[in-house]
Amino acid sequence: MPQPTSPGDYADFYRQSIAPDTREAFWLEQARAIDWHQAPQQACDYHNPPFARWFADGQLNLCHNAVDRHLAQRADQPAIIAVSTETNTERVYTFAQLHEEVQRMAAVLQSFGVGKGDRVQIYMPMIAEAAFAMLACVRLGAIHSVVFGGFASVSLASRIDDAQPKVVISADAGSRGGKAIAYKPLLDEALQLAKHKPAAVLLVDRGLAPMPLQAGRDHLWSTLRTQPQFSEAKVPCTWLNSSDPSYILYTSGTTGKPKGVQRDTGGYAVALASSMQHIFAGQAGQTFFCTSDIGWVVGHSYIVYGPLIAGMATIMYEGLPTRPDAGIWWSLVEKYRISHMFSAPTAVRVLKKQDPAYLKKYDLSSLQALWLAGEPLDQPTAQWISGALQVPIIDNYWQTETGWPILTLCNGVEQQTSRFGSPGKAVYGFNVKLIDEATGQALTEPNQKGVLAMEGPLPPGCLQTVWGDDERFVNTYWSSIPGRQIYSTFDWGIQDADGYYFILGRTDDVINVAGHRLGTREIEESISSHNGIAEVAVVGVADKLKGQVAMAFAVARDANQVATAEGQAALEAEVMKQVDSQLGAVARPARVLFVNLLPKTRSGKLLRRALQAVAEQRDPGDLTTMEDPTALNQVKELLATA
Ligand code: AMP
Repeated sequence: MPQPTSPGDYADFYRQSIAPDTREAFWLEQARAIDWHQAPQQACDYHNPPFARWFADGQLNLCHNAVDRHLAQRADQPAIIAVSTETNTERVYTFAQLHEEVQRMAAVLQSFGVGKGDRVQIYMPMIAEAAFAMLACVRLGAIHSVVFGGFASVSLASRIDDAQPKVVISADAGSRGGKAIAYKPLLDEALQLAKHKPAAVLLVDRGLAPMPLQAGRDHLWSTLRTQPQFSEAKVPCTWLNSSDPSYILYTSGTTGKPKGVQRDTGGYAVALASSMQHIFAGQAGQTFFCTSDIGWVVGHSYIVYGPLIAGMATIMYEGLPTRPDAGIWWSLVEKYRISHMFSAPTAVRVLKKQDPAYLKKYDLSSLQALWLAGEPLDQPTAQWISGALQVPIIDNYWQTETGWPILTLCNGVEQQTSRFGSPGKAVYGFNVKLIDEATGQALTEPNQKGVLAMEGPLPPGCLQTVWGDDERFVNTYWSSIPGRQIYSTFDWGIQDADGYYFILGRTDDVINVAGHRLGTREIEESISSHNGIAEVAVVGVADKLKGQVAMAFAVARDANQVATAEGQAALEAEVMKQVDSQLGAVARPARVLFVNLLPKTRSGKLLRRALQAVAEQRDPGDLTTMEDPTALNQVKELLATA
C-alpha cells in the first residue's frame, strides 16, 4: 500500500497542512494512506463555512479499510485480542475471522432492514462483539451510535430519541471488579421511556445476568449467528461518499441535551490512517493497546478504527487496571508484545498507588511509547510513569468533536521531546490560535492566557455537524468569540515561546471526571427531578486521583427533612441512587451538600464558578453581582466539615 513520506521537518510539515496554497496537495497525499473505491480529486470543499467537506468526490468504506483490505497480506494475523479479567477469557480474532464475524453481524442487521443511512445504537461492554457491531454497521453504510455502558436509562433514552435507531445492539451485562452490571433492565427501561421504538434488539448473552426476551423484538446473537443464512453470509461493503456519516457519538455540553457529534467517512479514515503514521509511528503487524472504552471517542478512534486501518492488532480490555493485580496491563504487554499503549492520566495515578514492583516483573521491551489523553496530565504522574517505563510518555489533547489529537508531538514526523505539563504542539491540520475572549483577537505574545480556538476548515476527521441540528453546530462551536467565525474548544490555554501549549481548564460548565466529560446541567436536571430537591448546582472540584469530581449543592424542598445529619445522609443517598439509575454511576456526584440558598446573580443566574472556587478553597473573585452576599458562607462552613 502506498505510504505518504514523512519529511522529517515538523514545522514545515505543519505549515503545508494548513497553508491555503499547499493544503490541497498535502491532504490528497495523506489520502493515499487509505484504500478508495474512487479516489478523490479534491481535498477540501469549504464553500459553505464552517461546514467542511473532505474528499467529497471520493468513495470508500471504513470497514473495507479496517478489515477486508488486510486479507491479502495478513489474513491470519491477530486483529482483535479481547481480554477480560472480569470473565477470565482471552479471545484472539485474526483479520480473516474478524471478516467472517463482521459479515455475520452485517447479515443479521440486514435481516432487520438495516441499510445505508439507518442508525444503529450500540450499548455494549468491552467485548469483541461490540467491535463486530461497529464494523458491521459501517460495512452497510449504517450510522452507529455507541452509548457508553456506564450510562443508564434516561441517558440512553434521550440518545435513542435523538438518533432514532432502527436497531439496538446490546448484551445481558457488563462487569466491573467481578460484579456483573446488568444492561438489559436499563435498556428495557430506556426503551419504555423513549418515544422512538426501534424495530429490533440484538443481544449478546454472556451468561452474566438473567435476560428475559421480548418476543418479536429481542433476538439472540448466539442463535442467529449459527443459522446458515448468517453463518455463511457474504456481505459486500457498501461504497459510500466520503461525506456520508459513519457515526454519531454523543457528548456533554452546557445544556442538559447531549450533542450528537456527527463524523464523516472519508475524512475520518484519512485522519486516522495519517495519525497512525505521523503521531503513533505504528506499523502493520504491531499491537496497539488503548485502555479506554468503545463508548468514548478515544475508543472509536484508537481501539477500533485507527489500529485496524493500520493493519495492527488491537487489544480490547474489559476489567480494572488493578485486578487481579496491578501488573495485569504489563503482563499483557509482555504476552502480546504490545508496541503502543494509550491510556488516561487517572489510570496512571491509580497504578502509582500500587506496588512499583509490578512494573519490573514483566518484559516491557516491546513498548515504544505511552500516550495519555482525556484530562490534564500532571507533572508528577508523567514523571513517575516515565521513570518506571523508560519509554516516551506523550500527552495528547483532543475532544470528541475532533476525533483525533489537536495537540501532541508528531514523533512519526520528527522526534521531539515531551515537556511535562504540556500536551505539546499543534497537530498538522489544526490551525490553532489562542484568542482574547473579550476582543476576539489572536494572542501573539507567548504565555498569554486565551481561549484555545481553531480557524476553519477543521482538518479531516473532525465533526461535520451536530446530528440533526446544523444551527446548534454553528451556534455552539463557531459563534462564541465576538466578531469571529472560529471554532472554540472551550478550553483555556497558553503557549510558551517554543510553541508548546498548556491547557488551563474549561471556559464553560463542562467537567472532566477521570477523563470522562460530563455536563453539570445533565447532573443538575437529574438531581432536581427528585421530589425532595428544590434547587441544585453542580460544580467540578479538583480531585487528586480523578482530576475532578462532581459536587452538588442542593436546597431541599422541605428544610425539616435535612435538619439533622441523618436526614441529610438519607436524602443524599437517595439523590445519588437517582443519578445512578438515570444517568449512570459515572455521573454520580462525590457529595450532595444541603444549603439554604445558592449563590446567584441578581438576575437569577447561578454563580457556579464562585461555588467551585470556594469548594477548591480559592478566592471566589468579584461577587458584586451576587444577590445575597451571605450565600457562600454556609457553603464554606459545610465544606470545612464535609
Ligand atoms: P472529551 O470530548 O470527552 O474527549 O473531552 C474533551 C475535553 O477533555 C477537552 O476539551 C479538555 O477539556 C479535556 N482534555 C482532553 N485531553 C486533555 C489533555 N491531554 N490535557 C488537558 N485536558 C484534556
